[in-house]
Amino acid sequence: MTLREKINAKTTKSMVQMYCRHKHGHHIPCDDCLNFLQYANKRLLKCRYAKFKPVCQKCKTHCYSKKYKQMAKEIMSYAGPRMIYKHPLLAIYHLYEKYRFNCPD
Ligand SMILES: [Zn+2]
Repeated sequence: MTLREKINAKTTKSMVQMYCRHKHGHHIPCDDCLNFLQYANKRLLKCRYAKFKPVCQKCKTHCYSKKYKQMAKEIMSYAGPRMIYKHPLLAIYHLYEKYRFNCPD
């Protein structure tokens, strides 16, 4: 795993933790949330854009299955705006990525 992949995985994990705590009341992600996390990490490693991968909101290839895509949407919309308070460094890094990389067509 590259550093970038590690940071991306950490960001996803933090977001899932925040979401599960809020939505499901668990301090350690519940089974559903863990399943999602494992799925997300698998997708991340298989991403066809590899090191040129843009942030997922900007990606044109939607690689998530319907079920997980819906879950991702919920998790991101809850945890996204809260990342800056909880994990400022990860949030800033994500912004940096958002502007640095554009989706390769
Ligand atoms: Zn949960």
